[in-house]
Amino acid sequence: MKTEKINEKYVKKSDGSTVAAIATPSGEGAIGVVRITGDDAISVADRVFFGGKKLRELGGYCAEYGKIKTVGTEKNETVDDVVALVYCAPHSYTGEDMVEFFCHGNDRILARVLNSVVSAGAEIAGPGEFTKRAFLNGKMSLSQAEAVMELISAKGKSSIETARDRLEGRLGKETDEIYSMIAGVCAHFAAWTDYPEEDVEEMTKQSLMGELLKIKKRLEKLVLGYETGKLISNGVKCTLAGKPNVGKSTIMNALAGEDCSIVSETAGTTRDVVEAEVSLDGVIMKLYDTAGIRESDNEIEKMGVERARKKLYSADVVLAVFDGSKPLDDRDLKIAELLKGKNVVAAVNKKDIAGNNADIAKTLGFKRIVSVSALNGDGMDELEKELLSAVGLILRDEHEPIVSNERQYSCISRADACIKEAIDALRAGVTFDAVEVCAQSAAEALAQFSGNNVSEDVINEVFSKFCVGN
Ligand code: GDP
Repeated sequence: MKTEKINEKYVKKSDGSTVAAIATPSGEGAIGVVRITGDDAISVADRVFFGGKKLRELGGYCAEYGKIKTVGTEKNETVDDVVALVYCAPHSYTGEDMVEFFCHGNDRILARVLNSVVSAGAEIAGPGEFTKRAFLNGKMSLSQAEAVMELISAKGKSSIETARDRLEGRLGKETDEIYSMIAGVCAHFAAWTDYPEEDVEEMTKQSLMGELLKIKKRLEKLVLGYETGKLISNGVKCTLAGKPNVGKSTIMNALAGEDCSIVSETAGTTRDVVEAEVSLDGVIMKLYDTAGIRESDNEIEKMGVERARKKLYSADVVLAVFDGSKPLDDRDLKIAELLKGKNVVAAVNKKDIAGNNADIAKTLGFKRIVSVSALNGDGMDELEKELLSAVGLILRDEHEPIVSNERQYSCISRADACIKEAIDALRAGVTFDAVEVCAQSAAEALAQFSGNNVSEDVINEVFSKFCVGN
């Protein structure tokens, strides 16, 4: 494959058929939207819309007040008063003619408006049909289309911001730049080998290695950033561990800012895993307050302890709690032993009655230890910072491009592996031809990332996860 082919874009246009869907969530609301897209969108809309100007006569981005009537029924009944907004291709979300009806937010009314639009000639849109058309019509790359879905389902401020960055094309810009660097290497090879008589600057092994290493560094950064991306999108799983009565539930309540866990002086009251979702500096953290890890004869409590152990193994970070007002005992040491090698933040609690207990911190020997009082909040800010820092979510560049899903990760890591192969081949003294083949494979993987050169199956898979009307 030569460079001309690498730069070839795979663009399959949408078929232009006219489809419609309700774009707003179910339930009562001031406004509900029915949207129509496709070559006949405006004509279809005109068949159901009356009491205002013909929509066909309006320009793009023009709104008209009117009514919707039933179509295909014996009598044309009025369904709702609406505002119709017209978009003319290519200046619309999908790149096609589009009409949006702003109706009253009532599920029955919206269903009747949609029925009427379908009777007038539209088909019901499939999941993600609108964004899929935007992608097929070159309005956005595949990673931007994925960002639309991420933005809709994002919870914490951080996941909203990273999805917004991707939607604005920050990640796409980075991969495009890497792609250009690879294409540059391939173009140089091509010119040099295909036109030896031309005065093409000879590529030395050293200059080629320099370029490949630069490419590898940028790809590696994206590969490593995937874990951060997952944490931001899915939330950080944080399991609280510690023997009963050390203050786990109180710490959880302090972090959550509300009474979501059972707090009691009787050991073993927190019998099962209690969950809470909190936002720490814009990052969603899923807290699991486990039954204190202890031997118990009580069947129900045993089950809770077992679930606690499982949560420990699946956690991104473990918040290990110890009571600073008492000397450590065997159970504390057993828990510390169990957590060896895990990503742990230790909280030495009850600072208000124990002070900074340096001995306990020293004995425990964890890298991250914070002295806190869950009761009066002392040290809790530092604890929050340590939790974020333990999962690499502090002091990061908030606008750094981040890979967010399996599909994107698979493309980037494939490109990274191909460049590694190219570097290894060059080091081993293999011919430049072999290096070129590896570089081209890396470029293909990146082309698939942005949606150029992807199969229909991949496109369908991506959009099947969208909701209808999106
Ligand atoms: P858990 O079994 O580990 O979840 O412990 P709890 O959160 O139920 O707390 C056990 C007892 O310790 C309760 O009486 C809490 O009020 C008390 N406690 C928790 N944190 C603190 C603290 O920071 N200082 C003091 N003095 N008491 C605390």
